[in-house]
Amino acid sequence: MKKLSLCITALLGLNTLPLQADTLIHAGNLFSATDDSLQSRMTIVVDGNKITAVKKGYISAEDGDTVIDLKNHTVMPGLMDMHVHLSSQQGPSSYMERFTLNEADYTLKAAHFAEKTLSAGFTTVRNLGDEYNETIALRKAIDKGLAQGPRIFSAGKSIATTGGHADPSNGMAHKLRPDVGPEQGVINGVAEARDAVRQRYQDGADVIKITATGGVLSVAKSGQNPQFMDDELEAIVATANDYGMTVAVHAHGKEGMKRAIKAGVTSIEHGTYMDDEIMDLMKEHGTWYTPTILAGEFVAQKAKIDGFFPELVRPKAAAIGPLIQNTFSKAYKAGVSIVFGTDSGVSAHGDNAQEFALMTEAGMPAAEALRSAMVSPAKLLNISDELGTIESGKLADIIAVEGNPLEDIRVMEKVVFVMKDGAIFKQ
Ligand SMILES: [Zn+2]
Repeated sequence: MKKLSLCITALLGLNTLPLQADTLIHAGNLFSATDDSLQSRMTIVVDGNKITAVKKGYISAEDGDTVIDLKNHTVMPGLMDMHVHLSSQQGPSSYMERFTLNEADYTLKAAHFAEKTLSAGFTTVRNLGDEYNETIALRKAIDKGLAQGPRIFSAGKSIATTGGHADPSNGMAHKLRPDVGPEQGVINGVAEARDAVRQRYQDGADVIKITATGGVLSVAKSGQNPQFMDDELEAIVATANDYGMTVAVHAHGKEGMKRAIKAGVTSIEHGTYMDDEIMDLMKEHGTWYTPTILAGEFVAQKAKIDGFFPELVRPKAAAIGPLIQNTFSKAYKAGVSIVFGTDSGVSAHGDNAQEFALMTEAGMPAAEALRSAMVSPAKLLNISDELGTIESGKLADIIAVEGNPLEDIRVMEKVVFVMKDGAIFKQ
């Protein structure tokens, strides 16, 4: 039909029928993320929500085409943060929120922070734990165009054991303590582990998140003790696999990491006390490492302020926080597969790109740090055929910064252009 109408247009010498109009992005520099290099003076052709060509030079527009002039910018794929918590942001009043906020409050906060995250150039995020599955609802709303935000891969509520990191009843007086079970993300034993994973499948989660060791911010004594038994971990991984879901694991202490990696989980988050043995195990099992250096820096700074954290939390924040950057440095040198993740929601949403400077400071070249937020997350999420690079056939998630990030990584903290799924969000 299209061919026919074009012929008629030509015959009649008319130009009134809508020809396929493209968007042409003129990129002064292009970091396509297919390798570590920058190409200068390039054109990206976008048709609808897809990249249809990447060409050398500045291709001129035909009738109806839109040109976006980014000749003074570096253009690259949309960034992906593999560890965020969109429905909260840490502050001195955070520990009161579970007594004062309702589901709608969390949902509206998540919508606000999602928009901030997209504005910072992050077009895809993995949300590793919320309160009431509100980030699953938000994902649906964003996909339908009812809200603005990144593509969300949500774990719903994360899974812990009783008293473990992410048990929502931690720190409460007995008389206030809610009855929590698999649905609320608290399991004990194999049957409940399966129950919790299946519950998340039913709730519409994309991935499973568990807290395999103590954590910094939970109101509990240890930040690193193992909190799941082998059989519980195996049950979670096997059940998640049945439903095509990957498993992300919060872990600081060595024993908890070891058990989780052996059980076949997908990624270790934070990984603070990993040593050579753990790094070897991760390489052997193909386990990803999400460092979240930014969260470590944030809690270490805030631990110096009286009253910012509860007294049980403060010493953990001071001890664990500063170690993560060094762990990242060792893991990078050892050849562990690293994927970009910040734990934003600990630090402020929209500051996600500050992680890049912390990564390069610890020894990772800028181009590799960038690709860890583009190519690697796409691999982790099994969406490499759609996202992660600027190539013909990929979805048009495209951002731009002023200056050259390979010379000054801090330019990533000021993203000036954001296109998601072919639609311009920020210009
Ligand atoms: Zn987290």
